[in-house]
Amino acid sequence: MAEPAKDESRLQENAYDVEVQFNDLQKDTDNPLGSVHTFEDLGLPSEVLRALAALRFSKPSKVQEKALPLMLSNPPQNMIAQSQSGTGKTAAFVTTVLSRVDHSKPNQPQALLLAPSRELARQIQSVVTSIGQFLTNLAVAAAIPGSIPKDSRVDKSVVVGTPGTVMDLIRKRQFDVSQLRVLVIDEADNMLDQQGLGEQCARVKSMLPKDIQILLFSATFPDKVMKYATVFAPNANMIKLRKQELTVKGISQMYMDCPSESDKYDILCKLYGLMNIGSSIIFVKTRDSATQIQQRMTNDGHKVSVLHGAYEGAERDTLLEDFRSGKSKVLITTNVLARGIDVSTVSMVINYDIPMKGMGDAMHDTETYLHRIGRTGRFGRVGVSITFISDKKSFDALRAIAQDLEIDLVALKPDDWDETEKLVQRVIKSSRAQPDFVPSGNTV
Ligand code: ADP
Ligand code: MG
Repeated sequence: MAEPAKDESRLQENAYDVEVQFNDLQKDTDNPLGSVHTFEDLGLPSEVLRALAALRFSKPSKVQEKALPLMLSNPPQNMIAQSQSGTGKTAAFVTTVLSRVDHSKPNQPQALLLAPSRELARQIQSVVTSIGQFLTNLAVAAAIPGSIPKDSRVDKSVVVGTPGTVMDLIRKRQFDVSQLRVLVIDEADNMLDQQGLGEQCARVKSMLPKDIQILLFSATFPDKVMKYATVFAPNANMIKLRKQELTVKGISQMYMDCPSESDKYDILCKLYGLMNIGSSIIFVKTRDSATQIQQRMTNDGHKVSVLHGAYEGAERDTLLEDFRSGKSKVLITTNVLARGIDVSTVSMVINYDIPMKGMGDAMHDTETYLHRIGRTGRFGRVGVSITFISDKKSFDALRAIAQDLEIDLVALKPDDWDETEKLVQRVIKSSRAQPDFVPSGNTV
């Protein structure tokens, strides 16, 4: 069994190697991280260019290179952009927002960015702050539950929020939307499709200036939602992926064939040593099972955190902060964190419960699967995903997901622990992305 990672030096060495590696990937124009242009070519404000250099963004990724000129051109045009997880969609829309805002009016809301979770809104807020670090007068407000007191107003030029709270603030006249120029919807397929969120987004949009520039971003746009997206953002420029392009090469996708549902817990505990190399996220179906697994693991002497919608806002911020900083290394969560969360140290994602959707969980959920595994393998890094299956229903669901994505997954066997360790470690300990690396083993 692997010991929890102790040698910090190895991790730092990895970070260095990864940087060298994605410089290589960025030279390859077929790679989602690659491009022919520099940021200087793209017409961004000098303060933004300075910040990108300070953040060591040496070259744009493909989506940044393709989307930026279209989003920055005048008169402003709408955009629907799809690009794989971890390819820098946030910087693409944040640089656009910062270019569009009139920084002589720092207290007048001019850009609104919407995200499906409080955590993602906070994360985008911090990206705006860091890419805007050299702009004098930039202030960013978060419009999430509890962040704007009842008697105060939203008085920052850039506002990042969740749709429900934004809707309330507009209705209560705490948020003057009359001067908004740009509306960004991140994770747009999810935001427009889900019942509650979809209605809220439509209501918010109906209260905004009619000529606002609308930018929709996601790694996934199922056909049905894409149709609605083109109505929501009329006459949009579009960047789309082909089906075979959806998966990220750096993520080695595996599955664990568990004898039964009740064996999953023991197998998870056996994996614990490997999960501590880097950080990892365990996705489960319900809040209750997240809490239960955490309690059992804690009783068994493992150190794990849990985050889901039942926690209070401020507590959620602290939990995720501890995970980002490495204070906690294993996070158990639900779909609330399936999308958008960017923690580069995550080297393993476990689907303890396979993602399902529809009435009675009748359908496999390929989009959620892609987003969940996309919490690792960020911007050219490598990572492993392991999906647990334990019966015919979960096996069929995984097979359907594999068919949808036209991929093979590597089988891990719970009774051959040496082999499992070898396969997993080979990936997470290899500091370099290996686009052509296919671990040996059975496939589905
Ligand atoms: P996405 O939204 O496409 O899943 P993110 O916007 O969260 O991806 O970006 C993933 C990571 O890549 C972030 O940590 C971000 O800082 C980094 N990143 C984005 N663009 C660049 C770039 N051009 N060069 C280097 N790193 C980048
Ligand atoms: Mg994102």
